[in-house]
Amino acid sequence: MKKIVIIGGGIAGLSAGCYAKMNGYDAHIFEMHNLPGGLCTSWKRKGYTFDNCIHWLSGTSSKSTFHRIWQELRAIQGKEIYYKEMSIKLFLKDQIINFYNDPDKLAQYLKKIAPEDSHMIDELAESVRKMYLLEYMPLTKAKELFNIIDKFKMIISFFPFLWFFKKYMKTKIDEFADRFKNPVLQQAIRSIKGLSPSDEFIGIPFLIASKDAGFPQGGSLKFAKSIEQRYTSLGGKIHYGAKIKNILVTNNQAVGIQLEDGTEVKSDIVISAADGYSTIFRMLDGKFINKKIRHIYENEPVVPSNLQVSIGVDMDLSSDANLSNSVYYLYELDKPIMIAGEEKKHIHIKNYAFDPTFAPKGKSTLVVAFYVKSAYWEQIYKDKAKYKQEKQNVETAVIDSLEQIIPGIKEKIEVIDVSTPMTLTRYTNNWQGSIMGFKNGLVLNIPRTLPKLKNFYMAGQWVGDAGLPGAAGSGREILEYICKKDKKRFITTKP
Ligand SMILES: Cc1cc2nc3c(=O)[nH]c(=O)nc-3n(C[C@H](O)[C@H](O)[C@H](O)COP(=O)(O)OP(=O)(O)OC[C@H]3O[C@@H](n4cnc5c(N)ncnc54)[C@H](O)[C@@H]3O)c2cc1C
Repeated sequence: MKKIVIIGGGIAGLSAGCYAKMNGYDAHIFEMHNLPGGLCTSWKRKGYTFDNCIHWLSGTSSKSTFHRIWQELRAIQGKEIYYKEMSIKLFLKDQIINFYNDPDKLAQYLKKIAPEDSHMIDELAESVRKMYLLEYMPLTKAKELFNIIDKFKMIISFFPFLWFFKKYMKTKIDEFADRFKNPVLQQAIRSIKGLSPSDEFIGIPFLIASKDAGFPQGGSLKFAKSIEQRYTSLGGKIHYGAKIKNILVTNNQAVGIQLEDGTEVKSDIVISAADGYSTIFRMLDGKFINKKIRHIYENEPVVPSNLQVSIGVDMDLSSDANLSNSVYYLYELDKPIMIAGEEKKHIHIKNYAFDPTFAPKGKSTLVVAFYVKSAYWEQIYKDKAKYKQEKQNVETAVIDSLEQIIPGIKEKIEVIDVSTPMTLTRYTNNWQGSIMGFKNGLVLNIPRTLPKLKNFYMAGQWVGDAGLPGAAGSGREILEYICKKDKKRFITTKP
């Protein structure tokens, strides 16, 4: 039985481990943290659960492509799934705008507000429909196994999207907003920009199209633990507190790994499902790269990092009229706040009170988060007092803004926790604290092997397979590819 060592117990690593076991390999995951899930995590403070990942999970609905993968990984079975009617409920100073995730309902609703923008509203709704079409595209085999016919079929299947991507890949959100005549809708489109990791319009339909992507009860860590459970029940081994320093290479073949404490583990195959930068430039010393890989790491922007303020509050917000039935509640502030040197005119709140497992009875968990650049935090982290003070500033600014939104909340806060890009880097090692790898990861066609290095593969968000479905799909496809090389039939389910 061939032995596979997998670096990283995030969703990509766990998935690779599960499919390795389903296909008869001896699988060992090495994870530097003491928990599974990587970025897909949550933590507890005084009876409250604070979640760091899932807003919505593509594949919870049986209509969606990824449903099958979550079934194979036993990730969602037995869990209640919560769905929302809106993706964003936006509170402008004088008006509330609901971004329904159903494109027909959205169009009907927005046309009542701005009949003069009928054409633009139809365009917005159509872009959301395109996102759903993408979500329902059938699963394909691993891209490495595509023959000429598969490539042809792929091109044909993308025909309906060619015009769409050509038109919108380079359109900025502000440009799209400018095309509305109604000033409120113009402002609304500009406001939701802050929820998207990029300035391109394409991020907007992606944000709105959350109809069939629910929230699994218990949140991110529970979700990750279900996959870990699937892996161990298939006989897989997971080693925690095991940080990998080097990938061992003999005659251009990966032959195992070396842990930080010097321990060496030999294997037939190595899969890195860990951060791409440290895999390529540290564990492998930058010895196995080509022009394309160097270009990507030197030039391609990454999805920014996350600054998160998690709050446990002695208030039952489960049926609060303003804070129900949407993924995000986005507020325009009376007075902008400064967060780590950047002015923020809006804050968005996530209210987890719909899930009773998140807080003691009668209480609620809220999260306020911001996309931020990690460089600022890396710099001030060197001065512990300054870092602590900056966290305190963020906490104060967020509480003051929340008080304007939910009067009386200040007195009811029982626990507050600020996590920064440094927290994220410390716990998951992700380069620049990125929450999803490269911004253009989907279109960069990043190779999942390295030039001239045999028996080595990469999976997860740094090879363009971002988001939870991408990461899980990546682990699956890598095993499909390995099976093909080993002349084995790829199996995807086992009791
Ligand atoms: C705030 C936030 C919100 C998000 N929201 C969503 C969402 O709503 N829906 C969605 O689909 N996706 C969401 N994502 C994105 C999603 O979480 C990630 O794209 C996905 O989890 C990446 O999985 P991965 O396995 O590729 O990487 P990671 O989760 O980074 O896993 C890599 C693992 O490798 C380990 N590791 C790293 N270096 C080493 C080493 N040297 N030795 C041993 N182990 C190592 C790390 O500890 C980690 O466990 C969100 C992410 C964040 C942070």
